[in-house]
Amino acid sequence: MSASKAIKQYFLDNPKKHISHNEIRDHLILLNISCKEPQRQVRSFCQKGFLQKVKDGVYFYDPYFKEEKYLSPEFTALQRKEILSEINYCEVCGSTDRLIIDHIIPRDNKNSTNERKNAQVLCTKCNNIKKNNNNIFLALKLLQKEKNSKLKNIINELEGLV
Ligand SMILES: [Zn+2]
Repeated sequence: MSASKAIKQYFLDNPKKHISHNEIRDHLILLNISCKEPQRQVRSFCQKGFLQKVKDGVYFYDPYFKEEKYLSPEFTALQRKEILSEINYCEVCGSTDRLIIDHIIPRDNKNSTNERKNAQVLCTKCNNIKKNNNNIFLALKLLQKEKNSKLKNIINELEGLV
């Protein structure tokens, strides 16, 4: 099990319990899962709305909490036209097949905007892999397809941090 999954499961198993970073670290040690910075994962869960923050370093999972979901604006038709006239290929794989304008920082992240700097051109295939994630996630998923066992181990370690 990845550190990320183990942390999520621990919060799911203990709804409403205030859980500190130390407790998470102990739990991971118990499961024999190595994770250098579990607090980063916890903070990212909080950012995504899965966890609520009590205070610095202490979070909890509330199964009944529904956050008003934030979505940054779509790119306008004019923006799309301008960007595609500038870049007419997928910026990841180079394909020119069915291009879309993707929000680099996903729309449900509070730091996401519809400014040019948050736009990238992707083909539908790359966009389907990235889904609502960041570019690091996309890169890891693409690397997973490589037949290199050492690389696979590195990716497994990194996955918990994304
Ligand atoms: Zn592509």
